[in-house]
Formats: sequence, C-alpha cells, structure tokens
Amino acid sequence: MTQRTGRDRYEGLQVPGYDIPDEVKGNVIVTTLNRLYNWGRRNSIWPMMFGLACCAIEMIATAASRYDLARFGMEVMRPSPRQADVMIVSGTVTKRMIPLIVRLYNQMPLPKYVVAMGACASGGGPFKEGYNVVSGVDKYIPVDVYIPGCPPTPEALLFGLMKLQQKIEKQSLKDVYLQKEEYIPEPILGPDIMDPRDFPLIREYTMKKLQEMQGQGAVSG
Ligand code: SF4
Repeated sequence: MTQRTGRDRYEGLQVPGYDIPDEVKGNVIVTTLNRLYNWGRRNSIWPMMFGLACCAIEMIATAASRYDLARFGMEVMRPSPRQADVMIVSGTVTKRMIPLIVRLYNQMPLPKYVVAMGACASGGGPFKEGYNVVSGVDKYIPVDVYIPGCPPTPEALLFGLMKLQQKIEKQSLKDVYLQKEEYIPEPILGPDIMDPRDFPLIREYTMKKLQEMQGQGAVSG
C-alpha cells in the first residue's frame, strides 16, 4: 500500500475546474463549497465502536499503531451511534444480533454509511444458511461498501474505507442535506427472525394455506 502523506490530505480540494492566475497559484486555495464540505467530511469519518466476531480483531489491528486509522481521520471510534458516521459491520451477523444492529443504525444521524466487512457481513460467509445466521447485513440495512475476505486484512479494510471516502467526495451538499431520515423497522426474533416489512407477504401466504386446509376439511371455521 502506498504511504499517505500530509499533501494527500489536500488532494481533490484545489481542483476548481477553471484556470487560476499564476500570481495567485500556491498562495490561495480556490475551490467550491461542495469540495470543501466533502473534503472535511471524508477526512473525519467517525466509526462506531463495536465488533461482532473474528473480523473485529482485524478492525482493531487496523486502528492500532501499525496501520493507524488516524491517517484517514477515522481514529475517533465512538461508543454511541449518535456520534458515529459509519457503521463497520465486522463479523458474523446472527439472528439474535440483527434487531440490535438495525436499532443502532436507526439511532445514527444523517449522513450515515455502512461498511460490510468480510464474508459473513457481506453474505453469511462460511455460516451462510446456518439456522442462526443472517445471509448478509444488507438484507436489513443499506450497505455502501462491501469488503471480501475471511477475514479481510487491515489493508483490505483500509482500501474499503478509501472507497467510502471516494463515494463521499462525489456527493453534493444539497443531496446530503436533503436526505430524509428513513426508519427501518426492527426485525423480530421469534422461532425465526421476522422482518416487519414482510408482514403483508406472510399474512397473504398464511391465509392462502388456511384456505387450502379448509378446502381439504383439515380445519373448520
Ligand atoms: S468472515 Fe471469516 S473472519 Fe470474518 S467473522 Fe466471518 S468467519 Fe470470522
């Protein structure tokens, strides 16, 4: 991986898209409000401090001195979702855990982002179709960046976070501010996990089956 320098931090800021007079070059920065705003945001993304399984160990290594998340302005891991910009889902998402993940996601302020770190968070991984495992966190919350691997290395996580920075750079101030808060109903854990958004489908299926059984005389009333 190439070493990031202090100069890289200003990359993308001073590219206004029109000529700057020579006498001014190097003395002042000419830029757009969008670039300035996104430059600040992309260099200060605060991740939420939580981990789910083995991938979390790699995430911890990424934050430590060797890989140093601070170079990306991401060292401030927040223990509260209300102060976090990005949720790094690092590990196996179980059916017991997904209602809590959705609740934490709902509690994060806008603009918010989700990174699915590793095979488990992206699609169930080695436990896919397991009785207690969700086949990807994107079944319940929107994911911005997927990072493959089991587990992904710290370099892979850093690459994924740089991709997130690129995504943030392309957003416009207007779109970010006009985003509407969308509440995602928390899944309910019963005999199996149920998504409240599927209730109309479940009701339709149940009524169809009931009518079939009534037709066969297996159920009365
Ligand atoms: S992807 Fe692999 S390393 Fe990561 S949580 Fe799943 S099993 Fe563990």
